[in-house]
Amino acid sequence: MSQEIMAQLEELEKEVLTCRRCGLRAGCQQVVFGEGRPGLFVIGEGPGADEDRLGRPFVGAAGQLLDKILAAGGFDRKTNAYIANVVKCRPPANRIPTAQECAACLPHLKAQLEILKPKIVLLLGATALHAVLQSPLGITRARGIWQEQDGIYFLPTFHPAALLRDPRRKVEVWQDIQNLVAKYREVVDPGHTSPFC
Ligand code: SF4
Repeated sequence: MSQEIMAQLEELEKEVLTCRRCGLRAGCQQVVFGEGRPGLFVIGEGPGADEDRLGRPFVGAAGQLLDKILAAGGFDRKTNAYIANVVKCRPPANRIPTAQECAACLPHLKAQLEILKPKIVLLLGATALHAVLQSPLGITRARGIWQEQDGIYFLPTFHPAALLRDPRRKVEVWQDIQNLVAKYREVVDPGHTSPFC
């Protein structure tokens, strides 16, 4: 990651850590900004209990599954994937963030996208799909179908937490990851390697 991108992310993170734009900050332990490296940009819903405790995105059971899914496609947050959520503060009892909370937090996510300038974004679950693309479709209908906006290719798929609840969905997510790798090779890095596809 270039010094310039790192500096811009650090500056933005300082600003987001002090955000009180919605009521979620009052009920969480800390703001979870996001982490990773430029390349693939991955967007989830919001921090859960483990993420809230550690201040890092996707570190609980769903996060461990996400890391395995990304690794199957040759992606890793230490080298070529950046992971963030629609809302940066944990909703009480892990409820789905409201449309108002998503709208309040969206400028932070847009600023992260603006700094990292990904060409490919993976959307995990309905909250990310609706908040980022304003799609009227449910995730079951929208998953696996590329949507292009402002030169960025977005691929919705199931959230890893949904896979933990219903492992049968792994078949569709695996199709999506193969699709993702093919597009990544096409528009980002023709030499991208992955262990399985
Ligand atoms: S969820 Fe987002 S908008 Fe709401 S307080 Fe936290 S950082 Fe600010």
